[in-house]
Amino acid sequence: MADVHNMTVAELAAGLQNKDFSAVEVATRFLARTGGNPHNAFLDINSEVTLAQAQASDAKIAAGTAGPLEGVPIAHKDIFVTKDFATTAGSKMLTDYRSPFDATVVSKLREAGMVTLGKLNCDEFAMGSANENSAYGAVTNPWDTTCIPGGSSGGSAAAVAARLAPAATGTDTGGSIRQPAAFCGITGIKPTYGRASRYGMVAFASSLDQAGPMARSAEDCALLLSAMCGPDLDRDSTSLNVKNEDFSRLLAKPAGDKPLATAGKDGGPLKIGHPREWLGGGSQVDFDRHAPARRSEGTNPQVNKRIEEALAHYKSLGAELVEVSLPQAQLSIPVYYIVCAAEASSNLSRFDGVKFGHRAKEFTDLADMYQRTRSEGFGDEVKRRIMIGSYVLSHGYYDAYYLQAQKIRRMIANDFQAAFAQCDVIAGPVAPTTPWKLGDKADDPVANYLADIFTLPASLAGLPCMSIPVGFGDMGMPVGMQLIGNYLQEAQLLNVAHRFQQVTNFHEARPEGV
Ligand code: GLN
Repeated sequence: MADVHNMTVAELAAGLQNKDFSAVEVATRFLARTGGNPHNAFLDINSEVTLAQAQASDAKIAAGTAGPLEGVPIAHKDIFVTKDFATTAGSKMLTDYRSPFDATVVSKLREAGMVTLGKLNCDEFAMGSANENSAYGAVTNPWDTTCIPGGSSGGSAAAVAARLAPAATGTDTGGSIRQPAAFCGITGIKPTYGRASRYGMVAFASSLDQAGPMARSAEDCALLLSAMCGPDLDRDSTSLNVKNEDFSRLLAKPAGDKPLATAGKDGGPLKIGHPREWLGGGSQVDFDRHAPARRSEGTNPQVNKRIEEALAHYKSLGAELVEVSLPQAQLSIPVYYIVCAAEASSNLSRFDGVKFGHRAKEFTDLADMYQRTRSEGFGDEVKRRIMIGSYVLSHGYYDAYYLQAQKIRRMIANDFQAAFAQCDVIAGPVAPTTPWKLGDKADDPVANYLADIFTLPASLAGLPCMSIPVGFGDMGMPVGMQLIGNYLQEAQLLNVAHRFQQVTNFHEARPEGV
């Protein structure tokens, strides 16, 4: 059988339809690769379920009733509830929890024909930037197992990079699709807030949480995103009432010599805005302003260099580069960590030992039961956010913190709109550094927060954004470039990413031994 574990989603889908190999053969190959749980990427595997789904796919292919992605395997971040696999959200609070239903995103991918390989490790309740906050142990980076894979969708990124799955779902509240994708050398996209249903996603910060695909190319992400999105108005009150699209539709257009020379507004050159605050040469993001007690080095020079090279590459594809400004974006760290903590403190109140999940074995009365259950079930980072969230929402501090944060959130969104008056997409780094060593920042929450400086602004504004591999930095670790589009411009964003991947091979690089 062909080298199926190295095939893309597009290649697998075509090969399956063509009966070059069967869905059972493909599933068997991937299941074999997950043996011994490399990188601690998986939290649950159930080969019986997977093989039964693959068999059903083979039957559909034979009957001519196959879905567009029939038989192609995918693994899900353990934030999506699934009825055939345990769902833990990376927390002890939900050890062995089994949902009675599938998340909408999971059922949509099943409807498209995808076979579920299992559930992927993640930071507890998706809170983290390194995947060191999982109650089930850290995930390691396939490019260097002494390094973190990024978070919170670290299991998803590691699984795709190590060819344990051709694709995975992730969720992005403040960067958790883009940053681990960047750190593991893969491609990921977070759509416009509201595009993908949040129904069945264990809630962290509801006004920010959004699902998206993580795969090896923009082409694959487009196929997956087309299957994942769509209105779910009855079950998600923030679901957008816009018809789903074929996000691959621009990819097939003839490339020509300079494919981006006519891809902009009004058929002119695509204008790529690079925020002057984000790249070397302009004024650097003022990290120290938010953590005066700490010295930070700003953006790593190797990261800046890779981004500049990628931008130059875009120019050769016919794009025009314009400098834009996002003056309020550097406030996104304090704003995000107030807003997300506030929402988390409310969302996580449901884990009280009464309705589901862990319950303390011994307690004296109801209040004691709550207290012991939550003390035992939640990890440190989750507790920290619940405390910060309760504080910023409390009487007397609400106006000073939460309300202020909401106002600045709006200003950040407005900055993007001003920038998009001058350009079609915005490009910049995903993270200021390459992946750091496991343990290096494990005891330093603020150091983790600072690493989110470039991903938080688009999340706060609800904009579609993605990460594509653009080369390697210090110690040979992957560097990702972030592309941000205006609302509902995913098709364009994916086209811009795809054009780069047509003429470069960073996205095809594999970690040693894979
Ligand atoms: N790193 C950010 C946090 O810890 C983002 C997490 C996410 O996007 N889920 O909250």
